Amino acid sequence: MGIEEKIGQLQAHQKKLRAYKHAMNLLNYDGSTLMPSGGADYLSDTLETLSGEEYCLRTAPEVRELLLKLTEVSEKLDLQTRREAEELLREQNRLLRVPKEEVMALESAASRATACWQEARKNSDFAAFAPHLEKLIEIKKRYAGYIAPEKPVYDVLMDDYERGMNQKDMDAFFGELKSALTPLIGQVKEAGQPDTPFMEGPFDTARQKALSGMLMDIMGLDRTRCVLGESAHPFTTEFSRFDVRITTRYTEDDLTGNLYSVIHEGGHAMYELSIGDALSYSVLGEGASTAIHESQSRLWENYIGRSREFCHLLLPKLKELFPAQFSGVTAEELYRAVNLARPSLIRTEADELTYPMHILIRYELEKAVFGGDLKAADLPGEWNRSYREYLGVDVPDDARGILQDIHWAGGDFGYFPSYALGTAYAAQIFDALKQDVGVARCCETGDFAPVRQWLTEKIYQYGMIYTPAQLIERTCGKAFDPGFYILYLREKFGRLYGAGL
Ligand code: ZN
Repeated sequence: MGIEEKIGQLQAHQKKLRAYKHAMNLLNYDGSTLMPSGGADYLSDTLETLSGEEYCLRTAPEVRELLLKLTEVSEKLDLQTRREAEELLREQNRLLRVPKEEVMALESAASRATACWQEARKNSDFAAFAPHLEKLIEIKKRYAGYIAPEKPVYDVLMDDYERGMNQKDMDAFFGELKSALTPLIGQVKEAGQPDTPFMEGPFDTARQKALSGMLMDIMGLDRTRCVLGESAHPFTTEFSRFDVRITTRYTEDDLTGNLYSVIHEGGHAMYELSIGDALSYSVLGEGASTAIHESQSRLWENYIGRSREFCHLLLPKLKELFPAQFSGVTAEELYRAVNLARPSLIRTEADELTYPMHILIRYELEKAVFGGDLKAADLPGEWNRSYREYLGVDVPDDARGILQDIHWAGGDFGYFPSYALGTAYAAQIFDALKQDVGVARCCETGDFAPVRQWLTEKIYQYGMIYTPAQLIERTCGKAFDPGFYILYLREKFGRLYGAGL
């Protein structure tokens, strides 16, 4: 069999994998949006069966043989094919270490835990969720033991989200953030807050929906390939580069929740929608990593969406939709209102300055669960203690505390650190973007095509062809440096809350 034929087989294999991904992502999406709660158990069974089938497909002996043969002749392959074989073999090696029953058990436990979490969060009932959490922690500990018994469990888990991410590097990263941000947050707490009565609402849901549509259009999201739905926890899921779903949530007394969820998830969606044609059926046809993905949502949400220039663009639209609230408001007042820095309880609603502390808390708790002896049952107490220590806030109930995020219910431990890392990547990428593109001018004209084109050219089109480190180096001309993030926060919040910061 010649190389061409082998490449053909590799492509056919990837097309099958994409079909499984399409089906399973669609089922998961439905489970988080429209499915009646009674369907949860049957959905779990279906996902368990499908994940077993996918496992068999990925680990089939003939696929192994194909991948090993392609690896032998890797120097004769083009970059895309070489990377596809490399990624598939890496994943296969990983899966072959984990018994199929464990993979299926995780899928099933995560699906059941997610259904339980939705109810538990509603009722602020951690006790109902705790057994699920405990089970998932046990499964993940076993999983890490299968994958790399010689490594710390938490390093193995983080590596699933950001290749190479480990406690040594993240301790240094968070250490730097903590020492730079703690005094800043303290000073912001002392400083007075601007008066923002216009943000109190009520904001009619139908009008908020109109705003969502406007935002998607401003960003230039292709509405024939991207739709917006609603869910308890906003998220993005992609079935292919032809069908990306984003969600938001509406509350009438809060405008910014929906506003910035749409821009954030829109940033994730734009990445997926802009991946190159050649990767449509490839395993490389998705974002390079969770942190690179987050860098794209944060770049749109914060670095563009929370800028003074973007507030100038936004204000006339808000005046049109909500005249009672915004008629006398200036762009500067809006800018200050969407950048209020105030320690708070909910991560997804946190301002840019205090956000990294929410992640630091989760990072330390995960470290203690997987590297120490912190038990699931003790997590709420530790959570509440950390919020008091780092943010100075008292957690009134578990719904606004430990139950606020969906990640642990899905078995996603080691995911959170990538949020802070991604936000820091975004600061450096944004700095490079501004050197080439007049972002302020885009805000003036409301035409963000130059930003989209630059990001597509530098990042989006490549999917997973390049690693995160390679992408940063190629895009910014230098290796990752968290200094850009710290400088950005210092300057922005220094100006907002007085030069003394
Ligand atoms: Zn995100």
